[in-house]
Amino acid sequence: MHHFHYAGSDLHCESVDLDAVAKLYGTPTYVYSAATMEDNFRRLQRGLAGLDAQLCYAMKANSNIALLRHFSNLGAGFDLVSGGEVRRVLAAGANVHTSVFAGVGKSEAEIKLALENGIFSFHVESEPELSRINHVAGKLGVKAPIAIRVNPDVDAPTHAKITTGKSDNKFGIPLKYAAAAYEAAAKYPNLAIKGVQMHIGSQLTSVGPFVEAVEKVGPFAAELKARHGITYFSIGGGMGIVYKDALASGQRAWWDAQPADKRPLTPETYGAALVPRLQPLGLKILLEHGRFMVGNSGVLVSRVEHLKRAAGKNFLIVDAAMNDLVRPAMYDSYHEIVPVQRDSSRRALTVDVVGPICESADCFAKDRPMQELGEGELIAFMSAGAYGYTMASRYNTRGMAAEVLVRGSAFEQINARETFEQMVAGERIPAFLK
Ligand SMILES: *Cc1c(COP(=O)(O)O)cnc(C)c1O
Repeated sequence: MHHFHYAGSDLHCESVDLDAVAKLYGTPTYVYSAATMEDNFRRLQRGLAGLDAQLCYAMKANSNIALLRHFSNLGAGFDLVSGGEVRRVLAAGANVHTSVFAGVGKSEAEIKLALENGIFSFHVESEPELSRINHVAGKLGVKAPIAIRVNPDVDAPTHAKITTGKSDNKFGIPLKYAAAAYEAAAKYPNLAIKGVQMHIGSQLTSVGPFVEAVEKVGPFAAELKARHGITYFSIGGGMGIVYKDALASGQRAWWDAQPADKRPLTPETYGAALVPRLQPLGLKILLEHGRFMVGNSGVLVSRVEHLKRAAGKNFLIVDAAMNDLVRPAMYDSYHEIVPVQRDSSRRALTVDVVGPICESADCFAKDRPMQELGEGELIAFMSAGAYGYTMASRYNTRGMAAEVLVRGSAFEQINARETFEQMVAGERIPAFLK
């Protein structure tokens, strides 16, 4: 459920008309709902009642510092993956002490920065990394808290570019070698073994793979507790969201109308399946959801440049492009696209929704039936809160989009549209070309 809905003919985020946001801040602009994020956070927290659970929001999904402050105020820590993300947590005035550092290639400088700021734990992906963290901790005269990421070899049905829990990808250490990796970790003088971690993939829409992974790794976590005194088990993130019926899924009635075997995963179902399997371990449970926390909390608002009618095809050319929202080009992802002003008297038209970039991949939707729209009118890409802005680029010298946060009837820009001067600020013509 989320807080995007039509009030009359106008699409609103909470009590704010998206047309008003576009008038003030232009397009393309990401608009986020603070209430939706809060609902997602609280539902997941309630679903985990009975566990000593800590949510570590996977900030690579959306790392704007305003969102980090919002989640921090709610009690979240963070799952972070770079020195830049450590600095974002600090810039948000949020807590590094409840945050974990993941990723397969942390540099010495990044490890140092995280240790100096009191990171809760490092999630280690290989034996060479143990050695590097031990080395940096030794130089600082501290013990580095660590957990090893184990790969449970669970086939989580999702897009090939976002599956991580199979043994043939680069993530983690296969379960059968993990005990030896912990023995190796125990020999390093500057490491403190704190936990065990797994993460099987992203945009998972059924609970089965999560259950399978917990059942595979749970007994190993119990062994580690006995042998190395671990105190936590991080079960990763990956809970999926609704992309196809994104707008309708804002309403409870939509969920109630879904047949039981077709209903997308909810935090309640997730919690009900996992809590009884995790509770007996007597460990603190960390969760690293990113997409679930923010995905349905954001839309990308864009303006129509032209409706181009070509032989047998209609192209709706809009001012957002693959540089702003790369998911359709990169993962063939579906985003529901809706008019900001609904007009049921207009006829429906089948269109390809495309951006202005010189690439055929700059296409958001093919043969999509939509209300007929013309130049200057607004559309919204639903479910754009996760892996939208954070994966954006400046391709075609298009500055980064603006970002706006809504809460109730209030809204503020939380990131200004990037200017040309900012884009070229670091560029120089060398002396030998002058
Ligand atoms: C990306 C990632 C997450 C978050 O994944 P979502 O699908 O956004 O929930 C969590 N943990 C790790 C280790 C990740 O790499």
